[in-house]
Amino acid sequence: MAVYPDILGHERPMALLEKARANGRVAHAYLFSGPDGVGKERVAMAFAAALNCQDPEQQPCGHCESCGRIARGSHPDLRVVACEAERVSRGEREPEKGRSPSQQIRNADLDEVAAIFRNRPYLGKYKVVLIVDAERMNANSQNRFLKTLEEPSDDTVILLITAHPEALLATVRSRCQVLAFGPLPRAVIAKTLEEREDVDAQRALVLAAMSQGSLGRALQMAGDAFLAQRDAVIGSFERVQAGDMADLLEVAGELSKGSQAKEDLKQSLGLMELWCRDKMITGLGGESSLGLLINQDKAEELARPDQAVKPQTLLRWMEHIRRARSALRTNANPRLTMERCLLAMRTSRL
Ligand SMILES: [Zn+2]
Repeated sequence: MAVYPDILGHERPMALLEKARANGRVAHAYLFSGPDGVGKERVAMAFAAALNCQDPEQQPCGHCESCGRIARGSHPDLRVVACEAERVSRGEREPEKGRSPSQQIRNADLDEVAAIFRNRPYLGKYKVVLIVDAERMNANSQNRFLKTLEEPSDDTVILLITAHPEALLATVRSRCQVLAFGPLPRAVIAKTLEEREDVDAQRALVLAAMSQGSLGRALQMAGDAFLAQRDAVIGSFERVQAGDMADLLEVAGELSKGSQAKEDLKQSLGLMELWCRDKMITGLGGESSLGLLINQDKAEELARPDQAVKPQTLLRWMEHIRRARSALRTNANPRLTMERCLLAMRTSRL
């Protein structure tokens, strides 16, 4: 799939797909399983293009009618199924007024797939169906879809894409060949941010480290707001350690205000945890520790003697952060949760 040189980091699943295609042993259904934002759908589209490419030399060629139609989203033999919320977020349809878009894949769309599969392909060799976020089929829909999965024909390929394979019925999973997609290497994400988004090298490294292998997340964070928020959270965190009780209450209030309090707070706690982790790594020292930092641009600050915290203390802090995050998953009050967490951290310092 050399015409897609910008797909990096998934050599293994791509090689497996390519081998199956070259040997004429394409499976009826594949399950692309892996974290969000690592490029599963891009690989699926490249595979769909390769399967139907009309160029005898190189598939996908990127310029035949089939490849062109796939790129434009107008190929008669390719169907992309997604829930309404996903289609709204992609700008493919307008949200209906007064109603939040459905997060579930509709049975009607799945029935349409079954109907398409009864016909021969129009243009290419294969009819290909991509089911985006396949876990958004509820159990009932999955059972319904099983019938389509169970009736393989030589010219149909189903590509289920999911970050939550555990949400799929065992009967569905067992009918697919599973391809695992891992997180992307930091270097791949940093390079993409630099080249595609014009992010400067230093920031690209930080964002790549923070994205935990998801290019999608890194792109979301690439705006200035995210790093500013991180700086604010680190500033607040340090203020609580150095200040008095009034500071602590003020910080808890600042971090838990606003209508998105719970979501913001979860993100802030995540940033604090990464900060503690970086303190731990810096404390261990050694030449290689710099490369392991998430907050790459804060290496100097982390190395200052007044930043040193005992590893036992850091472990306790991380435990308090973990507890606060799990409390937020229930219906705990955000502000009280934050106050309790910060207080517990302060009093547990060794
Ligand atoms: Zn082509």
